[in-house]
Amino acid sequence: MLGTGAADGWPNAWCPEPCCTSLVDAGILRTNTSALVDRVLLIDPGSEAPSQAMRSNISLAGVKYVLASHLHPDHLDASFLMHRSWVNPEPLTVVGPKPVIEECQQWTRDGNVRFVTVTAGQDLVLGPYRVRALPATHEAHGEALLYAIAGPDATILWGTDTGPWEPRAKPMLAGTRFDLVLLEETFGDKHDHTDVHHDLTSFATAVSQLREWGCADGRTDVVAIHLSHHNPSPEMLYLRLRDVGARAVPDGTPILAGGVRSALTLDA
Ligand SMILES: [Zn+2]
Ligand SMILES: [Zn+2]
Repeated sequence: MLGTGAADGWPNAWCPEPCCTSLVDAGILRTNTSALVDRVLLIDPGSEAPSQAMRSNISLAGVKYVLASHLHPDHLDASFLMHRSWVNPEPLTVVGPKPVIEECQQWTRDGNVRFVTVTAGQDLVLGPYRVRALPATHEAHGEALLYAIAGPDATILWGTDTGPWEPRAKPMLAGTRFDLVLLEETFGDKHDHTDVHHDLTSFATAVSQLREWGCADGRTDVVAIHLSHHNPSPEMLYLRLRDVGARAVPDGTPILAGGVRSALTLDA
């Protein structure tokens, strides 16, 4: 996980309350949610993604595929395409819903970048990864997507940003068991929000639905992402998530999904 925070990060830099000031004092920072899979597949390249990778001592030079969920700036800052075009002529495939691709196309004329527009329900193959675009319950100047990703070693569900499962998602998810579920839990104990994000209660419901549908079982690693300052203190949040069989991790945490590889062989 490159980043695990909500759009405003946690702490929110403008918040005067202890939920944020205590973390500022402790130097604990969650930045915009994004992930790098096997160092070749970058998911949700928000404006902070390149710096997140640098702070984790990880180069993005080997990235071959980019998946973007929706147009909000914490999930897509397309200027990365310009920055990359100055230094890296290797082929890159960028996948996203129509508004994402239209935004990206304004940032590069690099012929080595291939753009793929997807919509909910569509499947595609990216090298060793099979990807299914799923409908998100979100509002994002056009379509917002979630992604089911089946790689050589593990299956991953990318579940941000979204509220309760969109009705069309269930049949699209059914039959896939995930090794790793990365599901947003933006609002913690704040419940007076619109249904385009999760709080702790709706997160628990969404996870239990995945279990009912056979998409998650006892071996599935369920990780709450896109966390904001509306959540309980970090220590309390970890306990609350443990109650529903989930966890949260700090920014920059490596997650070994599927259990096939040994961490010792990753750089071999
Ligand atoms: Zn977001
Ligand atoms: Zn969003």
